[in-house]
Amino acid sequence: MTAKPAATRAPRNISREFMTGAVTGAAILLFVCTGGAVIVKTIAHLHGGTAVVDRTLIAVMLLNIALILFGWFRYRALAEELSDLTDAGHRAQALAQRDPLTGFLNRRSLSDDGATLFASARRRDKAMAMLTIDVDHFKSVNDLHGYAVGDLLLAHVAETIAAIAPGASLLARLGEDEFACAFVFDSAHRNVADRIAERMIAALALPFRNNGVDIHTSVSIGIAHSDGDCGSIDALLRKADIALHAAKTSGRNRRAWFDHAMERALQLRGELEAGLRNAIPAQEIVPYFEQQVDLTTGRITGFEVLARWEHPVRGMIAPDAFIPIAEEIGMIGELSLSIMRQAFADARDWDAGLTLSVNVSPLQLRDAWLAQKIIKTLVETGFPASRLEIEITETALFDNLPLAQSIVGSLKNQGIRLALDDFGTGYSSLAHLRALPFDRIKIDKSFVSSILDNPESMAIVNTIVRLGDSLNLPTTAEGIEDAAIEERLHAIGCAKGQGYLYGRPLGTAQVRRLLAEKRLLAQRPDRDAPPPRGIAPRLAS
Ligand code: C2E
Ligand code: CA
Ligand code: CA
Repeated sequence: MTAKPAATRAPRNISREFMTGAVTGAAILLFVCTGGAVIVKTIAHLHGGTAVVDRTLIAVMLLNIALILFGWFRYRALAEELSDLTDAGHRAQALAQRDPLTGFLNRRSLSDDGATLFASARRRDKAMAMLTIDVDHFKSVNDLHGYAVGDLLLAHVAETIAAIAPGASLLARLGEDEFACAFVFDSAHRNVADRIAERMIAALALPFRNNGVDIHTSVSIGIAHSDGDCGSIDALLRKADIALHAAKTSGRNRRAWFDHAMERALQLRGELEAGLRNAIPAQEIVPYFEQQVDLTTGRITGFEVLARWEHPVRGMIAPDAFIPIAEEIGMIGELSLSIMRQAFADARDWDAGLTLSVNVSPLQLRDAWLAQKIIKTLVETGFPASRLEIEITETALFDNLPLAQSIVGSLKNQGIRLALDDFGTGYSSLAHLRALPFDRIKIDKSFVSSILDNPESMAIVNTIVRLGDSLNLPTTAEGIEDAAIEERLHAIGCAKGQGYLYGRPLGTAQVRRLLAEKRLLAQRPDRDAPPPRGIAPRLAS
């Protein structure tokens, strides 16, 4: 540690310096006195006077000279020591400003140096471009190859950025794998910044070779430039960061320019995230019900449960806007169980032949207690397990297949059925179809709604229905928007369907009205009565 000696050195230096100064001062004073006397006597002697030079006086003078020399050397030594200290100070300052791995500025010094560059660009009527550069999937490089290789890769990325950046750029490392490059440019030529970003992306998409092993990497870049409403370097950096986030979410290995819609989207996301935490317990997020129809008889067989946020200020919010946020902030499990609880309670006294299909997020299949939680909700609401179908997508099978299999096993033991949702998109692999004991395949609406005008969609839908036939899995087509599509699906042997043809998803009260018209409400006058004995699901043994 260097802190302690540095702290004790200072007072010692001061006292030494004081002593040296005092000794030298006294010596000079003495020299002036004795030297004066010696010189006077020597001159008198040389001029034939009678004065005799005092030997003691000469000795004292020589001692004085020695002391003055000592003082001079001491002064030199102290001066050198002081310059060493100043150098160390400079080095410490440089270390505090720069990232030791890449030699780039750190975030704080980018802010300081950037402010100067920002002001100078303003004075010269130029703009400043800020590129924030992030290594895609850097964590997996660390996980797969170790931190030492991760560091080598970061140094390589920094070198590549430095080689491509314009001469007078400020280069900084902002975080573990995030870099920044700022330079002054003519805002009439935005393509200058574009070209630089493009070159960085292309150069860093080439594999990085380490010890004969190729590591495949890429970077995403956010770009912003100082314009009328960007008042400071920090505001510019924030804009570039927002653009970087957009580049990442739209698929990585690309660049994105900041625009104000991105900022608004981020703001909205922040507000939704904050609101979601209260909305779930407050039951602002409610189930809507989409009819599922037997394509042969035209009868309603059940409903798919779809989440809707009845926001007190923003009105109705669609699930695509809040389910991903709930997943990200770890609230999807709580949200899903809240929807299920409300839906089961609503549907308890519907006709006993009607089923409910609920969507379960892939993230929920990481919860070892999921099956128990669903079963408990069924028991508490008195909704029979045999009328419940769980919809999962293929992505649910990637993460932890054994855990997913065990959860699904517990659910199926209770008589709950399982559907593979959105089939046709993603991998659509036969191996996945066999990985879990599915009871049904749902054909994604993107194919179904286009079968009449897109022969490829027709071929895919036809293949999935045939596949279902041969595996003994009935198919449900979603996204049936008109009667001609319905007819076509029926003709190729699809058993069930759902879509706007049968109506938009309905709220609880509307479904009740629809079911009452169709005489599909069970004759149970007291909705709040406890569930009749015998329909509660068996508890896991
Ligand atoms: P999904 O499971 O594919 O749900 C079907 C979506 O298609 C629903 O959108 C539905 O309103 C819409 N749709 C129905 N008929 C038609 C049609 O004829 N044409 C077209 N173009 N679309 C139709 P919604 O309700 O906006 O839900 C979107 C997605 O959000 C769902 O896709 C599902 O993945 C997810 N989601 C909804 N509720 C929940 C939930 O409670 N939990 C989870 N984990 N995800 C949910
Ligand atoms: Ca679904
Ligand atoms: Ca679907």
